Amino acid sequence: MNRIVFLAATLLGAAQPDGAIGLNARRLEETKKVTWEGGKTAVLICDMWDRHWCAGATRRVAEMAPRMNDAVVELRKRGALVIHCPSDTMVFYKDTPQRKLAREAAKVETTVPLARWQKLIPEREGKLPIDDSDGGCDDDPPCKTGKAWSRQIDVIKVEEGDAVTDSAEAFYLMKQRGIENAIVMGVHTNMCVLGRPFGIRQLVLQGINVVLMRDLTDTMYNSRKAPNVSHFRGTDLVVEHIERHWCPTVTSADVLGGEVFRFKGAP
Ligand SMILES: [Zn+2]
Repeated sequence: MNRIVFLAATLLGAAQPDGAIGLNARRLEETKKVTWEGGKTAVLICDMWDRHWCAGATRRVAEMAPRMNDAVVELRKRGALVIHCPSDTMVFYKDTPQRKLAREAAKVETTVPLARWQKLIPEREGKLPIDDSDGGCDDDPPCKTGKAWSRQIDVIKVEEGDAVTDSAEAFYLMKQRGIENAIVMGVHTNMCVLGRPFGIRQLVLQGINVVLMRDLTDTMYNSRKAPNVSHFRGTDLVVEHIERHWCPTVTSADVLGGEVFRFKGAP
């Protein structure tokens, strides 16, 4: 390749000027191209713990963490605020500047209260398309439930200028910075990704433009429960539910190029 062709290819490949985040935001059949300003965007990393009580869940987090870190590095480079949200592990981060940053965000009064958990809203979303009433462990024999996590998986780097929180502080921080957009990634679609104070339901209800990165997430779903589909199909169904009732979804390929992330064994 001569130099001019190479330069042109590089420019086209890069596609985005510094600070711009181009996304293919999908809602069921419809995909819209949106461009967000890096400085007005937050990346929320939900519960990417070092360990889960479910061995299968732990394995899948470890499998997708490198790709997630790559996406986070790229989004940080474009000016997005990275907020790490490994719930119930704040003690591990208590003396870090990232924790301090979140703690010091001034509280914002909201019309819709920010709750520790926003449960399913039947009037808006009916019911989930999967039965997760057993906790969603897909292993045989099933894993024992309990608290197994102590921090975020170390593959996802916490850098200078990032924040760490597991509460409404994430929202306060976003307000303080004039952030209007949120890219949510992590686990699990049917639980924390939807319900946490930094999760999809609450951010949408607060008027934030939210997208879920649908290839960097997972579901607590046992394929022996309704609707008796594969674990990965279970995730697809919840993603569809989110697109129908809550917000668009995007993929890591929008940010990194290349192929979307797929778990080993997924179709
Ligand atoms: Zn399990």
